[in-house]
Amino acid sequence: MTTIRTTGSIEPYTDLELKKSIDAGETPGPKIHVTGPYLEGKGTFALQLHQLSGPEEAVKTVNFWIDEGVDNFKAYMFITRAELGAAIQAAHKRGVKVTGHLCAVNFREAADLGIDDLEHGLFVDTEFISGKKEDQCPDYGEDPVGMAKLDVKAGPLHDTIQYLIQHHVAVTSTLPVFEMGSFPGRPTMQKRVLDALTLESRNQVLANRLRASDVSRIRKQWGSDVSPYEAAFKKEEEFEYAFSKAGGLLLAGLDPTGMGGVIAGFGDQREVELLVEAGFSPVEAIHIATYNGAQYLGDLDRIGTIAAGKQADLVVIKGDPSKKIEDIENVETVFKDGVGYDSDKLIESVRGVAGSR
Ligand SMILES: [Zn+2]
Repeated sequence: MTTIRTTGSIEPYTDLELKKSIDAGETPGPKIHVTGPYLEGKGTFALQLHQLSGPEEAVKTVNFWIDEGVDNFKAYMFITRAELGAAIQAAHKRGVKVTGHLCAVNFREAADLGIDDLEHGLFVDTEFISGKKEDQCPDYGEDPVGMAKLDVKAGPLHDTIQYLIQHHVAVTSTLPVFEMGSFPGRPTMQKRVLDALTLESRNQVLANRLRASDVSRIRKQWGSDVSPYEAAFKKEEEFEYAFSKAGGLLLAGLDPTGMGGVIAGFGDQREVELLVEAGFSPVEAIHIATYNGAQYLGDLDRIGTIAAGKQADLVVIKGDPSKKIEDIENVETVFKDGVGYDSDKLIESVRGVAGSR
């Protein structure tokens, strides 16, 4: 990967300093589009997130962080419609885009307010949760049972897909974080991922995976040996496929949070593999992860495809991922601005540190 967009930030100054260091050639790394601190409303569960006091502060916050150097924002779960609308308008005035991992505001409301992108897809859309109150994040923002019953081809979910496309709202797929989460039967953790983690994180991730695969726990919680998250995950894949095929701009992400074990880079490769699982051809999946991302960032004239006159940002892969998508993991050399980096050496340089810094 040679260009990334961070998506929400706990330490925005760290991200900005890292970008500076990479751009100055002091640290190997991608070109970073830095996202500002989460735009969050009252009621959040995380102490690290500032809680906006209303629309005025949303505008102030957006302008402050654009001055500091960020070029994207991510709205979070407890933001209200008034705050989100004000933030979007302030950001758009300065040519900056806003994405959201929403809850109190549903997808259609966010589309009405002019949001540019929605992270995570259907898993976090609260419009289909019964009893949802305006501007309030329901207790159970993720309803795997209800979600799995929705139909992408007809009815309210189909209409929402059309609505998002009409309003030019992109959707970011983050399938790896959901795959890690809550149901058995998924591939075991890759050794290269475990090797990159600190010992403590590795233990935690493996414990989480065991818990996710524990059928007796699932039986106790759901009264069935099959977790409803399995069907919800399939529905998420269906939603993303239908959205893209209907003309929506689908983006590829990973989300290195949740139960852990989804690491930038490795997780992005896994995302492309999961897009193929969702029904896309390997070439379509690669297109989503490259061309579509560049299009969203407004960088398509410089990156996103390999063409004469564009920047020499590309990877050399052993194998043929257009036929066998798993080959995407066999990166040999990463070229950024025409300079080659040995992939094995880069990976070795972060052995045992992911999770500590
Ligand atoms: Zn998120």
